[in-house]
Amino acid sequence: MGVIKDILRTMDYGPSPEGSEHVRAWLDERAGGFGHFIGGAFTRPHDLFDVFNPASGEQIGRASQGSPADIDAAVAAARKAQAKWAALSGFERSKHLYALARHVQKRERFLAVLETIDNGKPIRESRDIDIPLVARHFYHHAGWASLIENEFSGTKPVGVCGQIIPWNFPLLMLAWKIAPALAAGNTVVLKPAEYTPLTALAFAAICVEAGLPAGVVNIVTGDGETGAALVANAGVDKIAFTGSTEVGRSIRKATAGSGKKLSLELGGKSPFVVFEDADLDSAVEGAVDAIWFNQGQVCCAGSRLLVAESVAETVYAKLRARMANLRVGDPLDKSTDVGAIVAPVQLERIKRLMREGEKEGLEVFRADDSLPARGCFYPPTLVTGIEPASVLARDEIFGPVLVATTFRTPDEAVALANNTRYGLAASVWTENINRALEVAARIKAGVVWINSTNMFDAAAGFGGYRESGFGREGGREGLSEYRVSDEGKVKPRSGKPPRLSAAPGLVPAREVMGADLDRTAKLYIGGKQARPDSGYSYAVLDPAGHEVGLAGLGNRKDIRNAVEAAAKAASWGAATAHNRAQVLYYVAENLSARAGEFARRLRAMTGASTRAAVAEVEASIRRAFVYAGYADKFDGAVHATRSRFVTLAMNEPWGVMGVVCPDEAPLLAFISLVMPAIAMGNCVIAVPSASHPLSATDFYQILETSDVPAGVVNIVTGDANALARTLAEHDGVDALWYVGEAKGAAEVEALSAGNLKATWASAATIDWAKAEGSEYLRRATQVKNIWTPYGE
Ligand code: ADP
Repeated sequence: MGVIKDILRTMDYGPSPEGSEHVRAWLDERAGGFGHFIGGAFTRPHDLFDVFNPASGEQIGRASQGSPADIDAAVAAARKAQAKWAALSGFERSKHLYALARHVQKRERFLAVLETIDNGKPIRESRDIDIPLVARHFYHHAGWASLIENEFSGTKPVGVCGQIIPWNFPLLMLAWKIAPALAAGNTVVLKPAEYTPLTALAFAAICVEAGLPAGVVNIVTGDGETGAALVANAGVDKIAFTGSTEVGRSIRKATAGSGKKLSLELGGKSPFVVFEDADLDSAVEGAVDAIWFNQGQVCCAGSRLLVAESVAETVYAKLRARMANLRVGDPLDKSTDVGAIVAPVQLERIKRLMREGEKEGLEVFRADDSLPARGCFYPPTLVTGIEPASVLARDEIFGPVLVATTFRTPDEAVALANNTRYGLAASVWTENINRALEVAARIKAGVVWINSTNMFDAAAGFGGYRESGFGREGGREGLSEYRVSDEGKVKPRSGKPPRLSAAPGLVPAREVMGADLDRTAKLYIGGKQARPDSGYSYAVLDPAGHEVGLAGLGNRKDIRNAVEAAAKAASWGAATAHNRAQVLYYVAENLSARAGEFARRLRAMTGASTRAAVAEVEASIRRAFVYAGYADKFDGAVHATRSRFVTLAMNEPWGVMGVVCPDEAPLLAFISLVMPAIAMGNCVIAVPSASHPLSATDFYQILETSDVPAGVVNIVTGDANALARTLAEHDGVDALWYVGEAKGAAEVEALSAGNLKATWASAATIDWAKAEGSEYLRRATQVKNIWTPYGE
């Protein structure tokens, strides 16, 4: 009796290991090493590296280190298979994806055990979360395969996709990458992480078993060098990467100017915000899930606990009590809560960051320091009293360490939540629905969970703001990453950039100003005409070389001022869509009232015929009308995800956008790029055509008379490529569009790597008469998924 009482008191129970004999036998049969999976078959193993079970340290397999030649072979196989795969009917592709889902489901237990042995995550998680979500992803995208032609009309597959994934959710990340790519008609070369290649190789066998055509899925194992070779391969049309921000940045630079499409899902330091009116017990359970799920090795881990000062001690006490009940140990044991850290280097990284943090004299709590004698383990840890500047508050620890700090007001909570360079996810706990939704709207993160955490579903988009990357995975948003416009082949741009310092040469602005005030267009910053900081203007010439006016030679400083003005005008994004629509209609109306004047200006600058100039102005007015119309119609969505959740996919503006215009169609291109950006609530720094800037500078009179708030549109004239570079480097710019030369486009992409701003850079000759539609709006927004629970 005494024993039962004891058990009831301590709730202690014995080990309950999951059987692993099938997996071990499978591994034993392959002890000689795995080759790559290329063109539907495994290659001969070569240059083998060891794969370990992190919970025991034992070697469990060997995989091949992929060389550039392996990548070439895999890309060639994917290329060979792509046209045929894309030509299959949606229904046929759908059946293949469905078969993959079914086969994954049939092998669920095998895959869960293999994942746990390879990665160290508790079997409860791999069995109940990872693998079921893998199957769900393939089922969901089996559906998309048959819908894609209808739902994404006017688009085609991107082609061959290079996909690089991390080790924290090896098979789930594979599914997030492969399922949408295949559904959209692409073929793939996937590189799993070097610590955890085994479930990807098992998946390769499933592809064979399920009858997937050869070459549609190719898997090349190896480390970062293999990944870099995939990124560099000229035969790849798109790179999809999940991993660290640091590597994401290097991939952004490596792909700059290559024409490869890119999506990045990077690091995070996600806030977990608990208000005083939250259901504290649920919030504490949520925190346990947010940070100790998968040992905290989760890019969206709720690793920063922000708690209302009035309830902080209560929350900490509850957390400490809960921590005492967490079982750390054998991941194959079904009652283990916290498993092993993936590899010794990761464990060392966690320890190093903690040593740095502890030097700052923080309060560190660990319930029980006793860890298994072997393997890579780190105990659940709570650090309180953390300052925002502390290394532990700033850096992604990627381990089971929760850092906590307090706030007094909702505004302070939002400020602390946003005090990070990342923006992947956030969790908000309060029983007050108004507060929850308000805070969710104000936090800059791609996913916000209200009174919940770590909710994932194939139907909802997942991905970050800011340095957490760009692009989404899952749902409709994710699928659009794997399609491109089917406008045939675009003609590359011809012609040279204008030489702004050409005759009559640089004229100090003041002298000219004195001579003829009206002829010198100024910059337009923060709702005011501004002289260029350089004090210089350049001559705007007609095709015959005659001067038609002077434009300011804007520089770095002018761009900085314009970015500041744009940031100050952020309330534009919060104005109602109806208000924005009204302002855009007013712009169109005022442009229409002065159509003749604009047509004359275009004629004078470009030498266009009267007819062509009038047509360009007319098209510009129509375009402004179109985006006025769109302003309140580019709706988000409510995704059908889990039961008892409304998942709101909200289209939010980027914030501050740079827009660099090409030389052709100086008014129409300017309107076509600026209007969708501001219709969606962004504030813009526009760099007009360098050769023909005067229709854009005339435009500020239209802005002034159309109730466009100061700072919403800023216009900086000058050397478009130099100004584009400054915009690309500026951390205050959230997104940048560039249309111009190939070299300029490549520079924009490379220099954007600093804050990982989203870029849309094109060196194609664009038919501006047709350049409108929802693609522009999609590129002017980012999707935030807000998971809102209902029911008691
Ligand atoms: P983590 O911090 O999750 O280990 P990494 O970004 O280092 O993240 O690794 C994620 C994936 O990126 C892995 O598959 C790794 O091999 C790969 N990788 C690492 N370095 C590079 C690189 N320079 N280019 C491409 N892939 C890389």
